[in-house]
Amino acid sequence: MEDRAILVAGGGGFIGGHLVKAFRDQGYTRIRSVDIKPLDQWYQVFDDVENIQLDLQLLDACRRAVKGMTHIYNLAADMGGMGFIENNKGLCMLSVLINTHLLLAAKDEGKVDRYFYASSACVYNADKQVSEDVIPLTEADAYPAMPEDGYGWEKLFSERMCRHFREDFGMTTRVARFHNVYGPYGTWDGGREKAPAAMCRKVIHAVKTGDLDIEIWGSGEQTRSFMYIDDCIDGIQMIMESDILEAINLGSDELVTINKLADIVEDIAGVKLSRHYNLKAPKGVNGRNSDNTLILEKLGWAPPTKLRDGMRETYKWIAEQYDLRAAGKLTRI
Ligand code: NAD
Repeated sequence: MEDRAILVAGGGGFIGGHLVKAFRDQGYTRIRSVDIKPLDQWYQVFDDVENIQLDLQLLDACRRAVKGMTHIYNLAADMGGMGFIENNKGLCMLSVLINTHLLLAAKDEGKVDRYFYASSACVYNADKQVSEDVIPLTEADAYPAMPEDGYGWEKLFSERMCRHFREDFGMTTRVARFHNVYGPYGTWDGGREKAPAAMCRKVIHAVKTGDLDIEIWGSGEQTRSFMYIDDCIDGIQMIMESDILEAINLGSDELVTINKLADIVEDIAGVKLSRHYNLKAPKGVNGRNSDNTLILEKLGWAPPTKLRDGMRETYKWIAEQYDLRAAGKLTRI
């Protein structure tokens, strides 16, 4: 196996941490993981990986991060679930500095073979997501551009920059549009968590406290698909190795309502809870699903994990974290 020098930007985060673990498990020995957070806040830290705390919004920090690297995975962004991105549009847009400076540094470094950028289904035109009764989004639906305000504009611009660095400077860039990723070792409380983790936490809290009522954001009838982290990690690696030049969907096409997601978590917990609906809470678009025609055609693969199976693992991990926090044994959320 060729011993690549791999940089994971955002390695202290949810997806970045899993990606670092996957490369270690596959036998790579030259892995550098970079994040702005102090190491005790990272979800996964490995002693045999070069772990560095850097602010990748800064060009000098990006030059330090890419030095000697051959494969770069940009998973770093200031982001969170709907509760965060609807209220922090400026912060979300500043992540444009991370991808811009990483691309520039990678271009100048000279040794970089491939560059991966993590985009999002939030790039898709909002007009195509007004109904819960969705038509799955194909890659072409990002244009004409009317993405999620703030976060989605940043993603669309950064995708575009990867394309032009490929066309103008000959870099090999790859871009995937992730659709709602969930799983263990990710944010589950504190304001940046996404729906699957938030649902697990709410149900666990109800079970532990005996307060058998949970709040659901929106009507509960909004529809989404959710991709389990293991599928995301497999997809990232396949897309990086592929000849797919344009941004491609990486998401499950198992469509559920938020109420159905709540049903699944209740089943896992073995409880039935009452629900009240907060119609004023951030809820994003009414309906969204991934059209997987292109990824099936290109890779002969699409994320296979069933929501119920992935949620079982996620629930188990969050329940452990909940107990650790209650016992005062957790330094991060
Ligand atoms: P995450 O918040 O867990 O990880 C992102 C990491 O980037 C964090 O650890 C954060 O500290 C780090 N970071 C932020 N600013 C930085 C900076 N200036 N310098 C260095 N590090 C910095 O999020 P995640 O879920 O792992 O997401 C990873 C990537 O995938 C992001 O680009 C995100 O936008 C994208 N994405 C995620 C999802 C999802 O459902 N999780 C969906 C679509 C796209």
